[in-house]
Amino acid sequence: MAELSDVSREILERLRRLREADAATHGGRVLSYVYDSGLAELDELSAEAMRLVQPVNGLDPTAFPSVAALERDVVGFARQMLHGDADTVGSITSGGTESCMLAVKTARDVWAAAQVSGDPATQPMLALRPRIIAPATVHAAFHKAAHYFGLDLDLVPVDATGQVDVNDLRARFGPDVALVVVSAPSYPFGVLDPIADVASAAAHHGIPCHVDACIGGFALAWWGDDLPPWDLAVPGVTSISADLHKYGYAPKGASVLLQRDRDRQRQQFFATARWPGYPVVNATLLGSKSAGALAAAWAIVQRLGGEGFAELVSSCRRSTEKLHTRIDDIVGLRVVGSPTGPLLAVETDATVPKRSRVDPHHWADRVSELGFTLQLQPGFTQSNGLTLPHTTHLTITPVTERMLPELTAALTQAADDVRGKARATPRFAVQALRMSGALGRELTADRAQALLSRFGVGANPGNAGSASTPLPAKMAPLIALVEQLPSEFAERLLIEVLARQVEPPTAP
Ligand SMILES: *Cc1c(COP(=O)(O)O)cnc(C)c1O
Repeated sequence: MAELSDVSREILERLRRLREADAATHGGRVLSYVYDSGLAELDELSAEAMRLVQPVNGLDPTAFPSVAALERDVVGFARQMLHGDADTVGSITSGGTESCMLAVKTARDVWAAAQVSGDPATQPMLALRPRIIAPATVHAAFHKAAHYFGLDLDLVPVDATGQVDVNDLRARFGPDVALVVVSAPSYPFGVLDPIADVASAAAHHGIPCHVDACIGGFALAWWGDDLPPWDLAVPGVTSISADLHKYGYAPKGASVLLQRDRDRQRQQFFATARWPGYPVVNATLLGSKSAGALAAAWAIVQRLGGEGFAELVSSCRRSTEKLHTRIDDIVGLRVVGSPTGPLLAVETDATVPKRSRVDPHHWADRVSELGFTLQLQPGFTQSNGLTLPHTTHLTITPVTERMLPELTAALTQAADDVRGKARATPRFAVQALRMSGALGRELTADRAQALLSRFGVGANPGNAGSASTPLPAKMAPLIALVEQLPSEFAERLLIEVLARQVEPPTAP
């Protein structure tokens, strides 16, 4: 290894200082985004694996056969874990979003090919946009996929606990449906969708069915034998996604997408020989790509094996069940429905008198002051008018177990501190916006920024050239505002917040 010069050392020191502002990636204080196995050795192993492939280009596994070997091994492990057979093939993608997007792109192209080759009487279908059917709790990655690839997303309302009725899905089947998506489990409330019923109904109509096991895959596989079948063991399931960078404990940038048969999967690829450069053949969205996260995931899979995963998952299950009970014991709060897997959503218990109720967002803000970061989820009104509650989300990982006493104390203390406090209502802000006519006008970047500073949300703190207010410490009022505003308007404001984060400073 080459010795680092003082200049390089100083650069790394600056990077270390920048990292100090980040959410804690280890230690179990952040219950979303990060998945800490609690095993320091796994982190070392994956860092070293990433370093070994650092200069490699994953674009071309014929030039870099190590990349193909790693991918074969990880796909093979996932295929066995998810009960695929010899005709199940797969790819490693950059993450859950890419796996979901590719499942949708594949389904769209299979659907389109069938329109062209099929009965001429059905060919007018080509003029239609293909449609995806999914419960309203399906991950936003499918909203993104529909948007990017030109499909309609037909969201089927769920009940107040996040459960979907199979008949409501079935009632929407039609010749324009390219894909049905179910989750194992869904992110917002941790619900395991009725996968066997949906997949069999879909198969009956010749519609493919994707199981989004992005978050659940590497956890449910070892959760216990009290689960109904949810993976490729279910007939009618045509593809499934499972993220290595969640309960596979790999660094960000790795997920598996498995497809039931080769011919279907070939529609996932893009190939062109119609340009003057090298022939391009890509199974995934990127061209040149890092093999780092793949190598780390591979090393972790080798190190843990089924038994290692099973041990880590049993810790997650113990912690989840304890937290579920503790939270239900807190007056004014309760866990939404009956989640499956290491996720919980918490809502106000409306069966107790108002003064005893706890607002989950004020609660999360208070928990944050006590040292743990939970994730606030806005309420959501579905197409049938049924509103799903605003909740607070907890993702439980193996490291949670050693934090349980401190965590449950903070959860209880925070509830005591905010019990009876009414939910944040940004009614006046929204009214003021309506009156000013801002809601009707198109938002330019500058107008959006001006509105944001009125709400106390500023530009990036590093930008000396703009009035810099950092992001607010309390999230409840911000999420309430997002809920109250028309979605498109809220989305535009959120884009502005994020876009301004990375604007280089203007000259003073
Ligand atoms: C995390 C997640 C995704 C998207 O995955 P990213 O890795 O964040 O891109 C998709 N579906 C579900 C259910 C998820 O939890």
